[in-house]
Formats: sequence, structure tokens, C-alpha cells
Amino acid sequence: MSPQINLVTEINKEYDIVIAGAGPVGCVIAERLASECDYKVLIVDKRAHIAGNCFDTHHESGVLIHRYGPHYFRTNKQELIDYLSKFTEWVPGNYIVKSSVGGELYPFPINLLTLRQFFKKPEMTSEEAADLLASLRLDIAEPANSEEFVLSRVGKEMYESFYLGYTLKQWAIHPRDLAPSVCGRIPVRLNTDSRYVDHQFQLTPAAGFSTMFGNMISHPNIDVLLNTDFGNIKIEVNPTIATVYTGPVDEYFDFNLGKLPWRSLEFEFKEKPVEVFQECVQINYPNEHDYTRSVEIKHVTGQQHPHTVISYEFPCAEGDPYYPIPMEENANLYERYKLLADAETEKNNVYFCGRLAEYKYFNTDEVIERALNTFNLIRKRYEHK
Ligand code: FAD
Ligand code: UDP
Repeated sequence: MSPQINLVTEINKEYDIVIAGAGPVGCVIAERLASECDYKVLIVDKRAHIAGNCFDTHHESGVLIHRYGPHYFRTNKQELIDYLSKFTEWVPGNYIVKSSVGGELYPFPINLLTLRQFFKKPEMTSEEAADLLASLRLDIAEPANSEEFVLSRVGKEMYESFYLGYTLKQWAIHPRDLAPSVCGRIPVRLNTDSRYVDHQFQLTPAAGFSTMFGNMISHPNIDVLLNTDFGNIKIEVNPTIATVYTGPVDEYFDFNLGKLPWRSLEFEFKEKPVEVFQECVQINYPNEHDYTRSVEIKHVTGQQHPHTVISYEFPCAEGDPYYPIPMEENANLYERYKLLADAETEKNNVYFCGRLAEYKYFNTDEVIERALNTFNLIRKRYEHK
């Protein structure tokens, strides 16, 4: 399956649906509306490619890289896998991460193997580990922030070794000022399961994300206009049914309630003249370097190549909006934008969906689910038209 996307360079016909953003949300909604409702769809993206932040591409060395950070696809929903399997085959996810602390690499998230190594007790059982954590944990029934969350799970020493420095580097915000859900993304385990996440399905598109999303939107009813900011064409296009907006919600409203803060990243890709450079896909550096993690995505893609490419991630304040910042004041500002967005949906048939449009730290499976819900909303509202 090689994608046959209808790329256009200008708008010279009428569309039922216009979608701003060719990321996962834009592609899923386009595919559903084109296939199920026979609508004519235009997707517009300001970047030169589709797939949003899931975009993968070949580095000049020929090594397949994840251009905007490693994407470990996972979900607990069989129906999501069934849907996506129409557009891709899969390889097993091999999402193994280690954390570099005090010159040693530890399995991360913290699990029984981490505890044995960290406390130099190679024979420790799960029961002993449970007792140990119970003695280290701070008694905080309802953690109000990420610091309290971690202290209430693993105690001060491991919080300071594995979490504090990484979080400060990643967000430039103290964990005590971030929602508990930020560090709460990371499980703590009493067994030897060393996978990064817990989900039932951990799978990677066999030919990559760009190919999967490309196959999804290779449909005679879908046109794609790249290198084009929606803001520059929105008065030109007048869709007969609806608009879907997946860009930053504050930008849509010309920042008229103020700017929502985003965290950005710079990626440095370095080719290495060896087949394999590091022992697993991701190594985190809570306490060393300016970068947070080094990623060798070959461990996940399974690509055979004599060379490899490592990407280093440097968090920064300016640049593309990659992460909404989960703090109360930002959530409050977003809620005010949400009122504007809801009114815009009612009045002008503009639907806001996705990580940027909803200012939520969603994973890919979560935004795909939201895209499917938005598709259903649009279909229901206009099915009699
Ligand atoms: P995006 O993927 O951001 O796509 C939005 C698109 O809209 C972009 O292509 C953008 O160019 C375009 N756009 C924005 N504004 C405009 C405009 N004005 N005009 C035209 N186009 C516009 N998820 C996982 O499941 N697993 C992971 O391991 C994982 N790792 C991640 C690592 C990093 C560093 C990041 C940043 C994200 C990660 N994610 C991961 C999350 C995943 O990238 C998102 O959930 C997903 O890409 C969101 O899809 P989306 O369509 O909402 O937005
Ligand atoms: N985190 C940490 N140490 C680590 C990895 C993660 O403290 O070694 C914290 C950090 O605050 C990070 C959050 O947990 O932002 C979520 O981590 P995840 O790896 O899920 O982040 P993402 O892949 O979305 O960047």
C-alpha cells in the first residue's frame, strides 16, 4: 500500500468540509466523512507534510526517524486497532526506556528491577518491594500536584533521582506547580515488566505513521493543500457543511483572551556509523545534559540499516506548540476559549478537535477517539442536509 494522496496547489472547487491540520485528527475526520458521507473534503496544513507530530521520514542517511519526537502508539481499545488496521500492518511496540542516574542505567518506569538495582538488593521480592515503598512513600491521600504525586508513590530519594531534574528540564516549571497527571503518566510497578506503558495494545505501523495516515486520506473525495496556513485561506473557502479546526485554539481567536502557554522542543539528529548505538529506544537524563532524552527509534521501527540516527530533545519556550502546560491557570484560560469555541460550533459550524485545539496533553490513540466522536457529531448534525 503506497499512499496516493490528491495534492492540490490551489483552491478551485467547492468543498463540503474544510479541515485545518493534516495531523491524526484531520486525517481521521477526513477519511470518515469522505468514506461514510461521501463529502468532498479539503485538508489544509501549514507544514510541508501530513501526519502532524506523528510524521516520520527518512533521514539523509536513509534511517527512518520520528521527526517530532518518538511516537509509541498504544491503546486499550480493540476497535481502534481494527479501524487503523484498514490502513496499516503492524510491528510489535518495543517501548523500552532506561534512565541514567549516577552513572548507571536503570529500567524506567520504576519497577522491581529498578528497586533491586537502586537499593542494591538483587534478591528483593515483590512483597519486599511493596514493604519498602510503603516505608518510603509520603502519606498524601489526594496529591494536588506532580511533586506530591511522585512523593506519595516512591518517596523523596527516587523523586529527586528520577523525576525532579527531568521535570524541571522538560517544563522549566517545578513539579509542585504541575498537575498530578503530568508525572502520573508514568506507572510504578512491583513486577519486572519493563515496558514504558501499560496499555493492552502496543503496536507501531509497520511502514510508519506517515504511510498509515497517507493511506487513510488517499481517497478520491479528499484533496490536500500543504504549506498553507488556514488563517490565510479561511475567507476564500466556504465549505457547504462544516469546518474542522485542529490548530491551537488561541490562535483561531487571534489570541483575544491572551496567549495559552505551550512547551516546545528542539530536536538534534545525529547519524552514527554503527548499526545500534544505545541499548534501548530511549534513555532519559534527569540529572545530566541539556537534553532530556536520547532516542534511537530503530529499536521500534525494526529497520535494518548499517547506520543509525540518535535524536536528542532540548526543551524550550519558543517554537512549535508541542505540549499544553498542565497548570490550573492555563486550564482556566482554556475553559474561556472553550466557550468561544462552542459558540463558534453552534453559529458557524466550526468543530475544534485535537491536542492543540483542545489544549489537552492527549496521546495519539486519545485524539483518534476524539476525532471519531467529532465525525459522529458532524454526521448526526448534517445527515438530513
Ligand atoms: P497534531 O499532530 O499537532 O497535528 C496538527 C496539525 O495542524 C499539524 O500538522 C499543524 O501543522 C497543523 N496546523 C496547526 N495550525 C494550523 C494552521 N493555522 N493552518 C494549517 N495547519 C495548521 N502520542 C502517543 O500516542 N505516543 C507517543 O509516544 C507520543 N509521543 C509524543 C512525543 C512528542 C514530542 C509530542 C510533541 C507528542 C507526542 N505524542 C505521542 C502525541 C501526539 O503527537 C498527538 O497526540 C497527536 O499528534 C495529536 O494529533 P492532532 O491531529 O491533534 O495534532
Ligand atoms: N518524567 C520524569 N522523569 C522521566 C520521564 C518522565 O520526571 O524519566 C516526568 C516528566 O515530568 C514528563 C512526564 O513525566 O514530562 C511525562 O513523561 P512522558 O515520558 O510520558 O512524556 P512525553 O513522552 O509526553 O514527553
